[in-house]
Amino acid sequence: MKPMTEHEIRSAFVNCSKGEAKRLHVPRDLTELPWDDLDFLGWRDPQAPDRAYLAAQLDGRTVGVALRSSGAASWQARRSICSLCVTTHTGGVSLLVAPLAGTAGKQGNSVGAYMCTDLACSLYVRGKREVGTRLHESLTLEEKIRRTVDNLAAFLAKVTA
Ligand SMILES: [Zn+2]
Repeated sequence: MKPMTEHEIRSAFVNCSKGEAKRLHVPRDLTELPWDDLDFLGWRDPQAPDRAYLAAQLDGRTVGVALRSSGAASWQARRSICSLCVTTHTGGVSLLVAPLAGTAGKQGNSVGAYMCTDLACSLYVRGKREVGTRLHESLTLEEKIRRTVDNLAAFLAKVTA
């Protein structure tokens, strides 16, 4: 993806207030990120471990989404699969919940999905970050990347519907 600036990221959030978007944690090392290897930027707030964020460029438009960890963990500590990149982790997948954009979100509606806890899906897909076990798949790298992007686009479509 194309490198994003802090301003671009903060302006892109669709499911939190402008004030929150202004205050939320954005990675400081934006210029040093491996943008060529990223299909989307996902990060966590080191001060608030239950908060996560992602920003993606879809159809030329940047979309940012604020997420919360559901907190429930017990059985998820076992093997689970990220719904975006389809990587299998032991204890490395979280149920993340996004308030819906607009009025629906203000009324408390949200949508959840299992995602890599560190939101580094792009790196797992490319084998740049290791996992304990990897499902053998006959897909090419391009196909895996496209699947991740499609899954992400479907999730973002639910948030912004
Ligand atoms: Zn993932």
